Amino acid sequence: MTTQRPRIIIIGAGFGGLAVVNKLHRHDVDILLIDRNNFHTFTPLLYQVATCALDPSEIAYPVRGIYRKNRNVSFLLGEVIAIHPHEKRITVKTNGTTLDQSYDYLVIATGSVINFFGNDSIEQFAFGLKNLQDTLILRNHILKLFEKATWTKDSIERDAMTTMVVVGGGPTGLETAGALYELYNHVLSREYNRANAIRARVVLVEASNTLLTPYPDRLRELARKQLESLGVEVILGKAVQKMEKNRVILVDGEVIHTHTLVWSAGVKGSPVARMLGVELARGDRIPVKPTMEVIGLDDVYAAGDITYILDKSGQPYAQVITVAQQQGKLVAKNIINRLNDKPQAEFVYFDKGIMATIGRRRAVAYPFNKVQLSGFFAWITWLGLHLIWLMGFRNRINVFVNWVWNYLTYDRSVRIILDETKPQSG
Ligand SMILES: Cc1cc2nc3c(=O)[nH]c(=O)nc-3n(C[C@H](O)[C@H](O)[C@H](O)COP(=O)(O)OP(=O)(O)OC[C@H]3O[C@@H](n4cnc5c(N)ncnc54)[C@H](O)[C@@H]3O)c2cc1C
Repeated sequence: MTTQRPRIIIIGAGFGGLAVVNKLHRHDVDILLIDRNNFHTFTPLLYQVATCALDPSEIAYPVRGIYRKNRNVSFLLGEVIAIHPHEKRITVKTNGTTLDQSYDYLVIATGSVINFFGNDSIEQFAFGLKNLQDTLILRNHILKLFEKATWTKDSIERDAMTTMVVVGGGPTGLETAGALYELYNHVLSREYNRANAIRARVVLVEASNTLLTPYPDRLRELARKQLESLGVEVILGKAVQKMEKNRVILVDGEVIHTHTLVWSAGVKGSPVARMLGVELARGDRIPVKPTMEVIGLDDVYAAGDITYILDKSGQPYAQVITVAQQQGKLVAKNIINRLNDKPQAEFVYFDKGIMATIGRRRAVAYPFNKVQLSGFFAWITWLGLHLIWLMGFRNRINVFVNWVWNYLTYDRSVRIILDETKPQSG
């Protein structure tokens, strides 16, 4: 069936893409949403899947389910492999074939990918934490290592197996380091009843001289103290120079024997940015006007991590959910304004603040960049807000029940090692 309605293609069912669709679908337009996954991922809880606290399905929501009542929204499961902005057409790889789709307006919201800053050895051996697939790979790895460690007699090798290095002093690094420590030392080790106790060593390495750079000094210091009181070792002011199969080497030559390096030290714009043929900004991000239109292209907008736009202080906006969502809403509004011959609005960010959790009863929060919270109260605030934020009533209930269970029992039920190889039949 053909229609005369404007056709808007949105690439990416992440936070930015969904914000566009949520506002646009009430208008007289046809929307095609494309993603290479058939689900939306709630990234703030990825580390909890990697550390066995939550099941993948509890932080993912099927895209078709979100828009099942909206007749003007179609979904295409596929990977965008080319954009032809001058022909207003994109190419999508789907079901083993390629498909071309035309648009009146295009929105790029494909987020970011891990940035290894050109360090091949880290890229080869490090574990990422950017999507659900990454978390399952990491979860399998740490559970298998624990099983191996329990049968390893050589104490040096056993220590390497139970040493984990997390790189990056941002919220994801802190959350992951804390959760890994708790998983090994409060959950797995309790189930190991041999003579030699298994204790994990978790080391958080940050190249700059502080954790949580955008936070006030007091909260940064409190975050470090809370991590250390949990048992995590914090190394500041040293970058990782190299990773080999069973060791990490820091810039000053310090060697940490380990099989596990989790890299959360930076992201760059998704490779889709390069498909536009425009000059990209720092970190492979797409330069956009304050209206969120891609500079140098007609009828192409972008939202979220992939965009590069400066705030009042001359810094690029942070790659966080609230920025992606507010940009997505503005993109929808501006497309509607253009369709109604009205002027477009400019991006004004409403900053709701920042927060990071560190482990049981430990967190820091800076709501609305006004109040400094730390410890138990910040932790409860973090839990409550993330529950509200999570998509789907059933997911919220499941996650809440899991959290209460974990808190009361120290148990982590999602500790299944799923081998990736095809099982033998019979
Ligand atoms: C582990 C982790 C924890 C985080 N914690 C927080 C937090 O606590 N608070 C916070 O504010 N931010 C957090 N973030 C950052 C936050 O996730 C991002 O800022 C946000 O997701 C950006 O939204 P987006 O729409 O730009 O991209 P995304 O939400 O990443 O969505 C991009 C979508 O595009 C799809 N896609 C990519 N390429 C293609 C392609 N070629 N074809 C089709 N589809 C494609 C992807 O599958 C994905 O669904 C975290 C990020 C990570 C990785």
